Amino acid sequence: MAKKKKVTKKKVTKKKATKKKVAKKKVTKKKVAKKKATKKKVAKKKATKKKVAKKKATKKKVAKKKSSKKKALPINLKKQLHDSILELIRVTSTVIPNDVQKVILEALEREKKGTTAEYAMKIIEANIKLAKNKSQPMCQDTGTILFFVEHPAGFHQNDFKKVVNKAVVEATKKGYLRQNSVDTLTGANNTMNLGPGHPSFHFHEHGKKSIDVKLMLKGGGCENVGAQYSLPHVPLDAGRDLDGVRKVILEAIVKAQGKGCGPGVLGITIGGDRGAGYVDSKEQLLRKLDDHSPIKELADLEKDIVETANKLGIGPMGFGGKTTLLGCKIGVLNRLPASYFVSISYMCWAFRRQGINLGPKNEIKKWLY
Ligand code: SF4
Repeated sequence: MAKKKKVTKKKVTKKKATKKKVAKKKVTKKKVAKKKATKKKVAKKKATKKKVAKKKATKKKVAKKKSSKKKALPINLKKQLHDSILELIRVTSTVIPNDVQKVILEALEREKKGTTAEYAMKIIEANIKLAKNKSQPMCQDTGTILFFVEHPAGFHQNDFKKVVNKAVVEATKKGYLRQNSVDTLTGANNTMNLGPGHPSFHFHEHGKKSIDVKLMLKGGGCENVGAQYSLPHVPLDAGRDLDGVRKVILEAIVKAQGKGCGPGVLGITIGGDRGAGYVDSKEQLLRKLDDHSPIKELADLEKDIVETANKLGIGPMGFGGKTTLLGCKIGVLNRLPASYFVSISYMCWAFRRQGINLGPKNEIKKWLY
């Protein structure tokens, strides 16, 4: 009996052990299944993330395509831009701006009757009328073709340049511009007014949606009498102050007499480096002749320079008389402590600059001078 009981106990213990093992196996299986499920979930999440990223990338690509399509200049707008620029060139070359004409007529009134100075001013007046009536260039010297463009963000400068270059070629063929740009080293003329640095473009981004295009035709004779001084300038005892600036400006005017086709207008920049100073001095010439600097000391200097120059007796074309200068515009740029430049650009009486404000279809919406 006792033996039988022992055997039964052993059997029960064995059964229990087996049950435990089975239970353990089940737990392990469950764990493995859980792990697998977790792995699957992670993989699914990853796949979803990838899909989302891919969708985003595709969206970005589509948006980029759309925006580049939007910004590129459609052909009809190119044609209208070409026509507007061609008209800007024609008017700039043949019609003196109102603000310049006004001071030229005032100068003619001022000159003594019967003098060579009055005669010279009358010739200038007749030249201006003839050019306008016949729509012909007011001077045989086309000069450097300078474009100043103010544009909104996203503007395509290269597209613009291509259209403008074509308009320059057409304006040259039509005779609004003389074939005036030559290879510096060989002197060869490709008869199109195109080449490295010609026309010259200056782009500025502004906060408005519209585009303003200004054009200046700056003659060679007057460009030759431009000057740049580094102060202090010992020969004139010109120091690094506005008195020193005044001294060098007056010397530049005296040196230009009889050479720059006066009476002229000065664009001057104090400060900057040599390059920036000259560029900005030309941009001063974009200001209207009846405005004045917002900085009082510079406004006073502008007035003083014109009054003093007109008392020097140089006169129109250097023939003597009361009109040596028609205007003077002075701007200022920051400088390095080590430098103090005064950059002077001289514009002749044939002050050809005009500007247009373009409408949404690149049509001329408004003339700026
Ligand atoms: S400097 Fe002026 S006026 Fe004299 S030739 Fe040149 S463009 Fe004509």
